[in-house]
Amino acid sequence: MSVQTEPSSIAITLPEFSSKVLDYKPSALSGICPTKAFLCMLGLSVAFNLVLGFLAHYGGVALNWLGVNLGIVSREGIRELLLTFLEVAAVCALCAGIGTAFVLTVSRGIAAEIGMLVGIGVGLVTFLSFMLLPIIILGMGFIYCVVIGALCALITINQGVRSHCRNIGVYAGVGALSGAITYGVHILLVLLQGRDFYPIGLPLGASWLVGAIEAVLVVAVAAALSPSIVARLRYCETHSVWYDRKWKQGRIFANQEMVNAVYQAIESQSVEGLEGFASLSEETCPFLVFKARGCPKNGCDVELLATLYYREKDSQKKRLWFRILVPGTFGKEFIKSLNLQTVLPPLKKQQKPTPTSGNV
Ligand SMILES: [Zn+2]
Repeated sequence: MSVQTEPSSIAITLPEFSSKVLDYKPSALSGICPTKAFLCMLGLSVAFNLVLGFLAHYGGVALNWLGVNLGIVSREGIRELLLTFLEVAAVCALCAGIGTAFVLTVSRGIAAEIGMLVGIGVGLVTFLSFMLLPIIILGMGFIYCVVIGALCALITINQGVRSHCRNIGVYAGVGALSGAITYGVHILLVLLQGRDFYPIGLPLGASWLVGAIEAVLVVAVAAALSPSIVARLRYCETHSVWYDRKWKQGRIFANQEMVNAVYQAIESQSVEGLEGFASLSEETCPFLVFKARGCPKNGCDVELLATLYYREKDSQKKRLWFRILVPGTFGKEFIKSLNLQTVLPPLKKQQKPTPTSGNV
C-alpha cells in the first residue's frame, strides 16, 4: 500500500504484515453477562434513575423559571407563543407566496407552474424564518432531554462495567429502561401535583406531543449511547478484567525508515532498531500515531494500533495501518521504546512558510 504525501511527495509504503501477526487480532466483547451482573445493573439502574428522574424534573422546573424570568417563554407557556407565531407566520407566508406567484406570472409573464413553484418556495422560507424563535426554544428543551439521556447511559455503563457485563444488548436494554424510568418519574411528579401534563424541557404548558418526543429522545439516547461506548472497551476473558481504559499514545514523524523499523520490530517481536525516533512536537506531515492498551495483569496481551496522518491536496487525511494484539512483554517494550504516554501533548501548528524570494 502506498500513500502519496505532500509537499515532499515522498511515497510511503505501509507494508502488509504476515498472517501470523494479523491473525492475532483483538476480539470483540464476548457477550457474556453473568446473572449477578444483570440483576445488579437492573436493580441499581431502577434506584439511581428514580433519583435522576426526580432531579431532572426539578432541573426542568428551574429551567422554566429561568426561561420565564429571562422573558424567553411566557408564563402561559410555549403553546400560546407557538400559536401566536404560527398565525403570524402562516398569514405572512401566504401573502408572500401568493404575491410572488402573482407578480411573476401576471406582470413578468413567466409560466404559471414556475411562478407557483417560486411562490411556494418564498412562502416556505418566510414561514420558517418567522418560526425560528419558537424552534430555538423547543430545541433548547430537547437538548436538555439529550443531556438527561446521556446521564442515564453513564449510570448504565458505570453499573455494567463494575459488574463485568460484556453484552452490548444488555447495555441497550438497561439503558432504554433507565431512560423510561427517569422520564416516568417526571410524569408521575406532574400528576401528583394534580396539574395538566407539561414537558420536562424549557417550554411550559405545551402538549403531550412534545412530551412524547421528549420521552422518545431520552430513551433513544440512553439506549444508543451506552452500548456504543462500551463496544469500544476491551475485556480479557482469561483474567476476567477490563483492559486499561486509557490508551498510551505517541506521534512520530513518518518516513520509510521509521515505517520499516516498526514493521521489522513487530514481525520479529523485538524492539531492536526502534530507539531514536523522537516524538513530534510540531505538526509535520506525514506522521504516525501509535496507541497501546493492555490487560492490567502482567505479561498479558497488549493491543497496538497505528494510524498514518498525511496531507493530500491541502487537507489532512488518515489511514489505519494496523490494529493487532501482541504478547505483553513485547508490548511493554514497544510502549517504552516509542515513549507512548497516557496524555498526548498538543501539537504546535506548523508555521506557514513565508515567501523568501520576490518583492517585499
Ligand atoms: Zn489478561
